[in-house]
Amino acid sequence: MRIIPSYSAVSRTASTRLNTNEPHFSHTPQSPPLWLTKPLAWLGAAVDALLPNHCALCSSKAKGLLCSPCANELPPIAHSCTRCALPLPQTELCAECLKTPPSFDSIVAAYEYAYPLDHLVLQFKHNNHPHIGRQLAKKLALTISHTIEQTIEHTPPSPKPLSPMQHAATPPDIIACVPLHWRRRLQRGFNQAEIIAKHLHAHTSTQTTQYLPQLLTKLNHTQSQQNLNRKQRLKNLRQSFAVAPKLLTEVKGKHIAVVDDVVTTGATAEVIANLLKEAGASRVDIWALARTPKHL
Ligand SMILES: [Zn+2]
Ligand SMILES: [Zn+2]
Repeated sequence: MRIIPSYSAVSRTASTRLNTNEPHFSHTPQSPPLWLTKPLAWLGAAVDALLPNHCALCSSKAKGLLCSPCANELPPIAHSCTRCALPLPQTELCAECLKTPPSFDSIVAAYEYAYPLDHLVLQFKHNNHPHIGRQLAKKLALTISHTIEQTIEHTPPSPKPLSPMQHAATPPDIIACVPLHWRRRLQRGFNQAEIIAKHLHAHTSTQTTQYLPQLLTKLNHTQSQQNLNRKQRLKNLRQSFAVAPKLLTEVKGKHIAVVDDVVTTGATAEVIANLLKEAGASRVDIWALARTPKHL
């Protein structure tokens, strides 16, 4: 199934325009100095208000974040593992989940982490464009809402059993997010997962759903996970997350959705879900913008 997101009008700064002919997106990790971040954001918003909207990928005129051709290029996940959302040729449990059932109950992801979605996520995270994250979160909210509708269709007396992903779409008791270490958050100016979580809380939850962005904390300033395999990531991560002591009593018996931007190997999802289950959570789902396909 291919859902083309309909983005509402969103503005952007001229500095984010990319040439579609560029084969690789190279982000600049050097952020502006902290004292300049807010004035620059205000200036960016003021410039946005004056400029016509342009597609965040190809710079052609667009009513929303992307022009229609670029929006059509965003990679949907047609089939995936019913537990970890790993893109697969058909919908089934992947070999890894079959062999070692993960601590999380399910991952719901809106897109496959591939071109051109990866460009947008990098702009969102590293080039200080939180509005891109909010726009992408709309598609994730749609995916979750769609799964909720399917859940309703499957509830008794329907004989069709629910998949783990459909269970994941039942409104959680708590929406939390994968935390950033305070130092990285300070550098970036925001936590990308928190921006997505806030949008999802506004659009997918019930009145009883608690929004607890501070539920989890990052203890260590861990080095980049990018070049590590799954086993190395798990080892690296195990000691670096904790449930905030003040909120520990909130976890017991609760269905918790933890929001992340991209699920790569699933190591962060595994460690966090394990932590929350040990603290008494009844169910832990991971909601992410995108899921990385398996590298061969
Ligand atoms: Zn475009
Ligand atoms: Zn799986």
